[in-house]
Amino acid sequence: MTKLCVTLTEQTPEAMLAAMRRLPAFVDMAEVRLDHIRKVRPCLSASDVERICQGKDRPIVVTNRPRREGGLNEGPEDARVESLRKAAALGAEYVDIELDSVGVLGEIRGGTQRIVSYHNFELTPPDLDNIHRNAVAVGADVVKVAVMARDIVDTLPIMALLRRHAASVPTIALSMGEEGLPTRLMGRKLGAFLVYACAEEGSEAAMGQVPCREMEHLYRFSQISAGTDIFGVVANPVAHSMSPVIHNAAFAEAGLDAVYLPFKVTEPRPFLEGYEPYDLKGLSVTIPHKEAMVPLMDEVDELTARVGALNTVVIRDGRRLGSNTDVAAALGVLESCAGRAGLLPLERCTVLLLGAGGAARAIAFGLSGRVAQMTIANRTLSRGRDLAAEVGASWCGLDEIANLRPDILVNTTSVGMYPRTDESPVPESMLRRGMVVFDAVYNPMETTLLQQAREAGCIAAAGLEWFIAQAAVQFETWTGLVAPRERMAQVVLERLSRK
Ligand code: NAP
Repeated sequence: MTKLCVTLTEQTPEAMLAAMRRLPAFVDMAEVRLDHIRKVRPCLSASDVERICQGKDRPIVVTNRPRREGGLNEGPEDARVESLRKAAALGAEYVDIELDSVGVLGEIRGGTQRIVSYHNFELTPPDLDNIHRNAVAVGADVVKVAVMARDIVDTLPIMALLRRHAASVPTIALSMGEEGLPTRLMGRKLGAFLVYACAEEGSEAAMGQVPCREMEHLYRFSQISAGTDIFGVVANPVAHSMSPVIHNAAFAEAGLDAVYLPFKVTEPRPFLEGYEPYDLKGLSVTIPHKEAMVPLMDEVDELTARVGALNTVVIRDGRRLGSNTDVAAALGVLESCAGRAGLLPLERCTVLLLGAGGAARAIAFGLSGRVAQMTIANRTLSRGRDLAAEVGASWCGLDEIANLRPDILVNTTSVGMYPRTDESPVPESMLRRGMVVFDAVYNPMETTLLQQAREAGCIAAAGLEWFIAQAAVQFETWTGLVAPRERMAQVVLERLSRK
């Protein structure tokens, strides 16, 4: 089974050992980066290596990476390679030697295994199979290929490499960078020899490493197996998405053999085609792909076809089914707020809807024909005008809204969203007592718009309510089970209150 290996980059042997002892028990191995010790010491001594090998509390990989392969070691090659021989003689379970230095290392004594590694910090080269073959030819016990992903599709050759070789040759293959994150979890599904993680946030030794506790507690690394179903969120950017938090918690609560990953996607089609052969079963879709995904589906339900934007994909029997769980969830939130404001039935209300993207479309179609009058205001006028025409609303620019007096104000622009949290899409003077203000933005939980609305005596509805409601319907669409809504709300609140 694929092991979890934490890379340690402390600057002294003592700190390295202390960090190793602080690692949780579920971390199978530690990679000791001797080149980081050299950062503070001009010369690594044999006794440093000895202290580490004698003080280790779990199997170790000893690495002394040269500058040319992304490490910190700038010393003589002989001394660098000698430190690995020494580690082997002292009982290190693995030493990592670069493909171009393996000849210098020669044979090593004892039971130590050689990880023969190749790194490329610029890109994913086309000849990964050749690289793998060369490492096998020089007698690698384990082959390691770590390359930079510039796009999510760069992770495909890495996963293919694992699929082809991991069962016959112990292989570590991963994509570095944010786009490469999925390979750190897919590695376990595809039988990689090990997967690297970092000890804590901020101690990453390579771009895209995930803290070990997050690997286990968020993604349930130790539960992933060849049969695990893959789900995820398709977005760009994706780093701050709450969806992995809410859906992985729901899968865990329901005891499902499934993991939910963040996919930073630029082009949805090659991503879908590339990941479908790896048990991809369902997706959440968000900015900026909700509309672009629709024509890629084999089937969409009638409402989604009208809205022209989807947020949920189910992949079943080789067919892609698209739906939009945003509409019903948003209407539910708005109706409950309007009820609290004494504005029901909705048919009596006027609505100002800010935005004309995927979220706006869901709300516009949901409210179409159900309110007295709706105005759509958007930054890009043509987009607002087109949406207004589709749903029978009026439209204007964002600079023309200050004098409007709607009963319900809905913000679906990304204004106020993390990291630009001090912005609001409307002048404060527009906010009046008794008005319903619904902000679709849920990160942060309490946007500047919502704060100002509450201060003005409005009935404020947070995007988080909508987010949890639509995620619950997504879970039910994928699994056919009742969503564990309380647990889903709890983990999102916990995560957001930690920020
Ligand atoms: P989208 O399709 O990309 O649309 C973004 C909208 O925001 C467009 O109308 C865009 O105007 C506008 N916009 C972006 N930056 C702006 C700026 N600086 N000034 C003025 N307008 C700006 O995104 P979406 O899927 O509709 O999502 C929009 C927001 O709603 C996000 O914060 C998202 O997290 C949130 N949301 C929440 C939920 C939930 O469950 N709570 C569900 C869906 C969405 P242009 O047309 O001019 O580009």
